[in-house]
Amino acid sequence: MQVEGKNVLVVGFARSGLSAANFLLRRGAQVTITDRKTPQELEDAIAQLVKPAQLSLGTHRREDFLRSDFIILSPGVPSDLQELLDAKNRKIPVYSEVELAYRFLKGRLIGVTGSNGKTTTATLIGQLLETAGLDRVVAGNIGSPLIQSLEHPAGVGSSSTTYVVELSSFQLENIEQFRCDIAMVLNVSPDHQDRYRDFNDYLRAKQQIFLNQSGEHHAVLNADDPHTLKMAADRCAMAVLYSRTQALEQGVFLDDQRIQIAWKGEKIDFMAAGEVRLRGSHNLENVLAATAAGFLCGIDQEAMRETFRNFAGVEHRLELVRDLGGVAFYNDSKATNVQSTLQALRAFSEPLVLIMGGLDKGADFSALTPLINEKVKRLILLGVAGDRIEAALGEGVPTIRVWEMRQAVQLAQGHAVSGDVVVLSPGCASFDMFEDFEHRGRVFKEAVHAL
Ligand code: ADP
Repeated sequence: MQVEGKNVLVVGFARSGLSAANFLLRRGAQVTITDRKTPQELEDAIAQLVKPAQLSLGTHRREDFLRSDFIILSPGVPSDLQELLDAKNRKIPVYSEVELAYRFLKGRLIGVTGSNGKTTTATLIGQLLETAGLDRVVAGNIGSPLIQSLEHPAGVGSSSTTYVVELSSFQLENIEQFRCDIAMVLNVSPDHQDRYRDFNDYLRAKQQIFLNQSGEHHAVLNADDPHTLKMAADRCAMAVLYSRTQALEQGVFLDDQRIQIAWKGEKIDFMAAGEVRLRGSHNLENVLAATAAGFLCGIDQEAMRETFRNFAGVEHRLELVRDLGGVAFYNDSKATNVQSTLQALRAFSEPLVLIMGGLDKGADFSALTPLINEKVKRLILLGVAGDRIEAALGEGVPTIRVWEMRQAVQLAQGHAVSGDVVVLSPGCASFDMFEDFEHRGRVFKEAVHAL
């Protein structure tokens, strides 16, 4: 792709837009950046530009779109913006940041998409590659935008670099030549209904991950999810299925609590599920998906087993913080909705002390009642959602209300005995007391380490 001397419009000036702009500026493009936010709101991003770019902030201006040679669209900006549609009508190409990156990178590409588990699975695959001593870059939510990783010392990589990229459906909307060597779809559940006309539209956006694949490439798909299973039928890439619930003729699956790999007539008894350190059946699915990817990459199997035995979780997602006097403390601050807290409750068989609460988004907490009554011996409620949670759950479990994380953690420890688990899984947003869920998780961990 020719960049030098081209007029390029970058739409959206957050992390991805900033990285794309810097990449283009370094390569001699004439860059204009547009965002609805004001220069004051974008002060930090402006300060990080490596060279001057033309700024068109506060609103989008049609003329910026129509005079560009091509447009780079950030994932946060909807593709149906009128100015974008006008540009497309005039045959001005609109690319997502991953398409731009793709045109420059060398190496193997593993794309991970799905409604849930992307970060965990991409991180796991990155760890597998690292344990095996292979050159790898993990990009997406957890790391940096893919385009930024091309600035790293290895430059655009070499043919031996593996890029593991977490892809949202938004990033997949505007790709053209982008092609995954291994494309993974973990699951599809109704999500982002605000950005898609209907569920089929959302499914179509996810399936873009298979674009440009042919018979020599792989599609790793969850056989337990009817939507992803269906995708296996109409792929031209070689489908590799995984399943937690059924034995497969070919693929990665759980049988009698052991992870099995069946591939081209060969059957490998890979490892016991009980040896996997991550908690929860959802995480076991992520492990199965990562196993499939690792196997396809030819990673040494002992290195894979070692990774799964040691990997304690991605930060803030059922992350094991500490074991103190036989009590394990888990940070699940990423659980910002009821569904995620349900996953956390299902993940444990031990008696639980649960720290919940935060900003109330009007969720129905009563869905938690059966599991809380079954597993939670003491519930500690934090923040403004406390009243509604208490009312929704009823009298089944002794509850304490607190307004400070440190106090919550100390009380939790006081009510736990050896063999119990203390877990922060708020089921709520964090903005009543914290900057974001990461901040909340860090404060929790500090309090746990201070015990
Ligand atoms: P994403 O990057 O897709 O948001 P994460 O790996 O960050 O996913 O996990 C976020 C939350 O989603 C977890 O805390 C857990 O509640 C849930 N989750 C993770 N993996 C799965 C999965 N395979 N299936 C269903 N839910 C999952």
